[in-house]
Amino acid sequence: MDFNRRLAELAKIKRAATPVVSVYLNTRWADEQQRDRVRVFLKNELRKARQAGAGRGVESDLAWIQAEAESLIEQARFTEAHGVALFACEGLGLRQILPLRIPFEDTFVVAEAPFLRPLAMLLEKIPSALIVFVDGESARLIPLNAEGAGEEVTLASEVPGHHRRGGWAQLAQSRYQRHIQAHRGRHFEAVAKALINLTEGNGVQRIVMAGEPRTLTAFRKRLPQRIADRIVGSVSGARHESASVLLGRAAEFLLHREGQGEGEAVDAVLTEAAKSRGAVAGLQETLEAVTRGAVHRLYLLKGFGEPGWVCAECGALGQGESPACRLCGGTTRAMELGEAIVDRVIATGGKVQTIGVHQGLARVGGVAALLRYPL
Ligand SMILES: [Zn+2]
Repeated sequence: MDFNRRLAELAKIKRAATPVVSVYLNTRWADEQQRDRVRVFLKNELRKARQAGAGRGVESDLAWIQAEAESLIEQARFTEAHGVALFACEGLGLRQILPLRIPFEDTFVVAEAPFLRPLAMLLEKIPSALIVFVDGESARLIPLNAEGAGEEVTLASEVPGHHRRGGWAQLAQSRYQRHIQAHRGRHFEAVAKALINLTEGNGVQRIVMAGEPRTLTAFRKRLPQRIADRIVGSVSGARHESASVLLGRAAEFLLHREGQGEGEAVDAVLTEAAKSRGAVAGLQETLEAVTRGAVHRLYLLKGFGEPGWVCAECGALGQGESPACRLCGGTTRAMELGEAIVDRVIATGGKVQTIGVHQGLARVGGVAALLRYPL
């Protein structure tokens, strides 16, 4: 499943005829308490939603959510998923379940459009990657995406064993070594070829190597520069280890790496905003860029929230209260701007990144953006 495409499609839903129910669950059942926490959370939220939604056409949506969540809690489905997002809307015939490998915070929202911020944030944090385990005579290629592990490809070439006995031990040993070396070279070459095909055929942007450092160094020399450039790092790995162990290690590495680059990326955008028109900082300028569909990458401080309005005629967004659009005079309605901005950026093909802590970003009001073109 292409989660980014699903996200973009959901972001196009603006005002559905009946309310849209969006539910995010942490389905990493580390202990029995976690299962109970999710049960209690759902019970309370469903009761509140039923009370508030009487007569608005959400009853069948809530019944569906309840049934699906029950089967998730009983682990009848998606046993590998650690986070699940559910979207339901009777009016649109929408019934969507997205299982992901990273847990969500439990969230329950009934609104006129899907609540997408948690999904957008998560997808940004877990870019897809290819995990490549290599040793002297075998290799395993395991795709890792938002859903979890893809189909593993195993490559093994037979390297002849040591079969000589008796005299000439020294010579035999050295011949054997040379033979192994030659075969290893051919093995590496074959793996490299498979890796190039898989990488370029599937648009793989990140490769995480797994194995012994010495082997990985030797293997890397066989790769063309354009492929080697996509290697973001390596983790330890051994042939007997299961795919889920290797993937777990690689996923940890990727998460850690994304977190590290985050602060620097925000610094760069703030600097850019101060000296050129290629980026904006602060709510006012960002709203303008978002309204024009010019945002390439939005950086939003975690917990950002600000009252505002959206124009029903031209789609302009503004801060505070305004009964009439300041651009076209059309009628407006009140909207929380964090959610409005995120939805609009996703719908126009931009990316959204939430930042945990960043002093500079907090100083400019918690929002900044890199633009597709200068305004
Ligand atoms: Zn307007």
